[in-house]
Amino acid sequence: MTLPESRVYLDHSATTPVHPHVVEAMAPYWSECFGNSASSHAFGQAAASALEQARQTAADVLDCRPSEIVFTGSGTEAINLALWGVAWAARQSGRGNHIVTTPVEHHAVGRTVEQLHGLLGFEVTQVPVDGYGRVDPSDVAAAVRPGTVLVSVMVANNEIGTVQRIFRIGRVCRERGVLFHTDAVQAAGRIPLELDEVNVDLLGLSAHKFYGPKGVGLLYVRRGTSFVPPITGGAQERGRRPGTVDVAGAVGLATALRLAEGERVAECARLRPLRDRLIEGVLESIPDSRLTGHPVHRLANHASFAFRGVEGESIVLHLDLEGIAASSGAACADGEPNPSFVLTAMGLSPDWGIGSLRLTLGHNNDAADVARVLEVLPGIVERLRASG
Ligand code: PLP
Repeated sequence: MTLPESRVYLDHSATTPVHPHVVEAMAPYWSECFGNSASSHAFGQAAASALEQARQTAADVLDCRPSEIVFTGSGTEAINLALWGVAWAARQSGRGNHIVTTPVEHHAVGRTVEQLHGLLGFEVTQVPVDGYGRVDPSDVAAAVRPGTVLVSVMVANNEIGTVQRIFRIGRVCRERGVLFHTDAVQAAGRIPLELDEVNVDLLGLSAHKFYGPKGVGLLYVRRGTSFVPPITGGAQERGRRPGTVDVAGAVGLATALRLAEGERVAECARLRPLRDRLIEGVLESIPDSRLTGHPVHRLANHASFAFRGVEGESIVLHLDLEGIAASSGAACADGEPNPSFVLTAMGLSPDWGIGSLRLTLGHNNDAADVARVLEVLPGIVERLRASG
């Protein structure tokens, strides 16, 4: 299926198109260089060498050691490995039984922590967020106690774009000798991720969020971190993620990460004014609308709103009819809208919480796309309110 060129894609936090240079870099590893990177013959060695080159590239960008990088099958898998890996290690050593996290994490973290509670009996403290979805590092410090084995706080929120104080939270964890995991899936290419500078022990990324392929992730595990692999099998990825490695995927992720980091400053500088125009235009033209997330400490490409008394999912459908791709954080169950759990945690009432809309900019967007949204969105919200 081909899409008409006039369509406007404003859902780059959901996924991004693969960069042509990334496709080019990956292509040989599906065809002429198809070997299994664990095989000892020449085909295998060629694949292994490409894999190690990809690992080196990713390590250079992240400012860490290649041995600290584990390629995975998605961002979700990277996060699951991180949380389960630390939890099993804690269980094995009897070191502790308590995890600190937030109520605004992506389900990859939130539901995994729920499982660790339900299946392994870990106690969980959720530190509150403020009205912008931000955690206060002193609340993290207060939540850490003897027996805390892990703190997990995301770098940037997918739904509201808010960026957390990751340096300060990392410092709190380091001072108290607690491992710190951060979900950086929305941050790559948008926020500097120099791991040598941040006190992070485990960090997850996902290639498809920064113009790489889908189904490829990366987990950084700082050297010396107690980690028991939650999946078992072969010795790939030093046993931390057994299974034949997707060499093309790893090459794609590393290439995309290098490109994203290389253009990060310029691309953020290009997108920020577009984002601000979008925010200003929406708030000016639509009554009972508000920006969700932090006005300043937010991703440069991310605009998110709540509209009182309108279902975000209905807005998304109507925008789609106008050729504009967006998304909503509110979920629909049994035909009834459920308020977004992120907005609820920030203290918004359900009549605002159902009306969440996310517009996220990327490579192909320009001022004309922003103007197009501002032309159609006020009418859509007005019609939905009139019909509701
Ligand atoms: N964490 C965050 C913040 C995300 O936005 C996403 C995807 O939307 C994920 C984790 C999961 O990543 P993946 O799609 O690679 O499983």
